[in-house]
Amino acid sequence: MSNYIMTNSGVKFNVFSYDLDDINIFDIAHALSNMCRFAGHVKNFYSVAQHSILVSMFASDPRYGLLHDASEAYLLDIPSPIKRSQAFSEYRDIERKLQRSIYERFGLSADSEPSDVHVADQRVCATEIQQLLHHSFDFQYEPYLTEIIAMSPKEAERAFIERFITLFPEHSKTRAVERVSWDATWMTMARQIAQRSYDPRLKVGAVIVNDENTMILSHGYNGNYRGGPNETESSEPGKSGMIHAELNAIIKLDYHSLQQKYLYVTHSPCEMCAKAIINARISKVVYESDYRDFSGITLLKKAGVLVHKFVL
Ligand SMILES: [Zn+2]
Repeated sequence: MSNYIMTNSGVKFNVFSYDLDDINIFDIAHALSNMCRFAGHVKNFYSVAQHSILVSMFASDPRYGLLHDASEAYLLDIPSPIKRSQAFSEYRDIERKLQRSIYERFGLSADSEPSDVHVADQRVCATEIQQLLHHSFDFQYEPYLTEIIAMSPKEAERAFIERFITLFPEHSKTRAVERVSWDATWMTMARQIAQRSYDPRLKVGAVIVNDENTMILSHGYNGNYRGGPNETESSEPGKSGMIHAELNAIIKLDYHSLQQKYLYVTHSPCEMCAKAIINARISKVVYESDYRDFSGITLLKKAGVLVHKFVL
């Protein structure tokens, strides 16, 4: 009988004896996105990959948050009451060792794992219990005020890889980034559309695409109402009188389409645009430059929208 598991990328992975090079982020993303939390006892499928992304949003060092459960790609997600039992003590040793190796593989030291990763993990777990299970139960941690919209395995896998590329740029010189990424493609387009704006102070562009990256659903730049004067009302920041780029893109969307929507925007959204983004059920926002204040970004994250800053 073989002593390894065959991974999705074709690595023969022996959890008792492996090289660091056997640990592959694409295998981790793929397996974690196909793995359901709570042993499957959830209303709808919800992956360990999405859980990991969420923990990375709340941990002080998001890199540890993203990878904290990565060993489960090779060992499965065993419910903690079972994992804590005497029968599983050897399993826990294997898990600890493998988790250390995974951190090491991506340039992190297990000894430097911030203690708040565990807290973020538990609080995300409390949030999941509250929203994703049919029956809530006592759990000593306080849930976050974030709405969880469960992603399909494919979406979660892609989001996990994108988050990894953002957080581990030095480990991202892999096949996913040998060619121009979709993020770079859409952001280039957003920058181009921004050039249509006649606001002399700030030109903002936004592009909304479907989650498969096969369609541009809408786009917009900051400008006046249709037929209105092609000039700003004031040069004072925040008083231009222009409709913001994100809003201009959102109002042109076809709301009959049930596709998941991603927004690419050259500047971080303001709070009002963030509210519109949430109500338009856009599930991910990628922005390039920081604009004024972060209340919009904070609100998006609180509402469970995936947000990341585009770094070329
Ligand atoms: Zn705005």
